[in-house]
Amino acid sequence: MSAETTRTARLARLRTALGEAEVDVVALAPTDNLRWLCGFAPLYDERACLLLVSPQGSAMLMPDLNAEQTAARLPEVELVRWADEDGPVAALHAALARVGASSAARVAADPMMRADHLLLLQAAARGAHTLDASAVLGPLRAVKEAEEIARLARAAEVADRAIEAAWATCAPGVSEREVGERISQVFREAGAEPEFALVASGPHGAFPHHETGERRLVAGDPIVIDLGGALDGYHCDITRMAVIGEPSDRYREIHAIVEAAVVAALDATRPGATCGAVDAAARQVIADAGYGEYFVHRTGHGLGVSGHEPPWVMAGDPTELEVGMVHSIEPGIYLPGEFGIRLEDIVHVTEDGCERFSGLAREVHVAG
Ligand code: ZN
Ligand code: ZN
Repeated sequence: MSAETTRTARLARLRTALGEAEVDVVALAPTDNLRWLCGFAPLYDERACLLLVSPQGSAMLMPDLNAEQTAARLPEVELVRWADEDGPVAALHAALARVGASSAARVAADPMMRADHLLLLQAAARGAHTLDASAVLGPLRAVKEAEEIARLARAAEVADRAIEAAWATCAPGVSEREVGERISQVFREAGAEPEFALVASGPHGAFPHHETGERRLVAGDPIVIDLGGALDGYHCDITRMAVIGEPSDRYREIHAIVEAAVVAALDATRPGATCGAVDAAARQVIADAGYGEYFVHRTGHGLGVSGHEPPWVMAGDPTELEVGMVHSIEPGIYLPGEFGIRLEDIVHVTEDGCERFSGLAREVHVAG
């Protein structure tokens, strides 16, 4: 599909969803939501820039400064331009009128919109009820098209290579930061954008979101390596473990429990299963092994144009998985003062279950 065909199709799906949600107009800022819808987002700064989509039409409130480039990228979208000396208020009213939303009762706003622009929007749509546009966009973005699955697979290949490079770098005396830099290097060499490289060694592994630092690896360290970035606008995210030297029996025992939790969640992931059921499958394994209180986060999150997006694989979530949905499975056990273990794979839901993007095993990896 051409970029324009994709845009037209997504815009049509959004319009249908607006009708179903009884939303009069949705306002998107130049965020991942706009990137998903249009394949492009103009610079996002203090100048208000909003794409308004209603069942009747669409128009974009556009700072003059960036209008030429946007017009070239989105030829079918009408731009309602405003200049610095005039300010955006009159143009915003004109744009709302253009899409038939001057007296909108329900306005869905991009949750990543700047607060000053949301205030502007609320002042222009006075009296309207404002709701979170995720309610409309989340379900649309969650189900990926074949082209999106292909892009996610290409991004995941970079992530696999980065894990292999990190494994090769882990050795006594090497710092967490140096491992992290090697990861970023692999991303850049592949033409991808590195976004995070979490390297949590030894006791640092007990912090699920440890900030990679200057600690140097020592013999016996388990190391959590969680990395992610984007290639061609689509994200990857993976966690693997390394151990410097021979792993202890305790390490092997905990690693096997986390691995069993991943397998249980993989087995539970299929069309019709709820996100809550997938979370429960992983959580049950860890609870049964006696470590329930040390699994301190949800099992997973969706991934696509954003690194974290719906569906949310968490306790009690009633969202039913559909073919084409993409999410992580990343249970962990965090033992304060000792170490932590997390294993993460991204999967996409298929007719009869799910498929992993990564080609890497999750076994105990001895490094250094
Ligand atoms: Zn993740
Ligand atoms: Zn991750």
